[in-house]
Amino acid sequence: MKVIDHLRQAKDTLVSFEVLPPLKGKNISSLYQHLDPLMEFKPSFVNVTYHRSEHIFKKKADGTFEKVEVRKRPGTVGICAAIMNHYQVDAVPHLICGGFTKRETEDALIDLNFLGIDNVLVLRGDATKNESSFEPEPDGNRYAIDLLKQVDRLNNGIYLEEDIRDGFRTKFCMGVAGYPEKHFEAPNLETDLKHLKAKVDAGAEYIVTQMFFDNAKFFAFVDKCRENGINVPIIPGLKPLTNKKQLSVIPRIFHVDLPNELIEAMNKTKTDEEAEKVGEEWLIHQSKELKKSGVPVLHYYTLGKPKIIYNAVKEVF
Ligand code: FAD
Repeated sequence: MKVIDHLRQAKDTLVSFEVLPPLKGKNISSLYQHLDPLMEFKPSFVNVTYHRSEHIFKKKADGTFEKVEVRKRPGTVGICAAIMNHYQVDAVPHLICGGFTKRETEDALIDLNFLGIDNVLVLRGDATKNESSFEPEPDGNRYAIDLLKQVDRLNNGIYLEEDIRDGFRTKFCMGVAGYPEKHFEAPNLETDLKHLKAKVDAGAEYIVTQMFFDNAKFFAFVDKCRENGINVPIIPGLKPLTNKKQLSVIPRIFHVDLPNELIEAMNKTKTDEEAEKVGEEWLIHQSKELKKSGVPVLHYYTLGKPKIIYNAVKEVF
């Protein structure tokens, strides 16, 4: 079922989770162990992130280095199919521009369609570690909106091969990313919102936000979206803080601010357990306030500490 249909039919706030594919070398059972307890909450859908390959320099026996391509977390498409099959829950693969030509994207979409997957979260992806800024493949999509338009063309039976007439129309429901604290490359929030509106006008049916730790920022973002004519459902993405190190890591990687109250509470902790408790309580506080405000879904990034997510969801739903 499409995410948008889950949202339309919902009478109350829904819950959804996001998982990462297991590291290469691990079995899918590691993912099931992670998800099993969370399935008690009957999530409406489970998102699976996509991780492109990176180039690393490997030392050879003669002392020189060779550039090799490694993909640490392959398998997004297969994992989505496995999750749907194993739990009878809708899976949402993340689809990115980076590393894909348009032809490879089209083939991936055909695979998804054959597997009965009706949903995609359409993203640009980030620059690789070796790039100073994001570069698409020579025949790839540059922005999420370009990828969105490609999916939309396939939804209208238009394939890259022009001689395919009367092509099968896929039925992908497309979600996109939004940034309450602005995407780090955008010159200002207004410009970012203009690009977000363009994605919605091009067919995105809902928005999932980057994580945030201050609900006021989410509420202000929703207001700004509405002022700018962005009227689709906006799903807050939530992640708990789980240790003190994240006080500097999260702002650096995700370009989000942390509220003073949370920083102070985290700084007072003396053990990992205390730090996790602070993160869990903050997540519960955020979730309860968001749910009370009537958000369509609470979407949890479950990476790392599923127990904290479990405890929070148990408390809130
Ligand atoms: P876009 O919408 O293309 O925007 C990127 C930047 O370009 C923004 O600054 C925007 O304002 C600007 N822009 C957009 N359109 C135009 C235009 N036409 N002209 C000029 N500027 C423009 N990354 C992964 O690699 N794998 C994942 O699984 C993944 N999952 C994610 C899930 C969520 C919910 C979120 C919020 C992010 C996720 N990311 C993932 C990270 C995401 O790929 C990065 O944040 C990326 O830098 C931007 O992606 P986007 O889809 O928002 O890009």
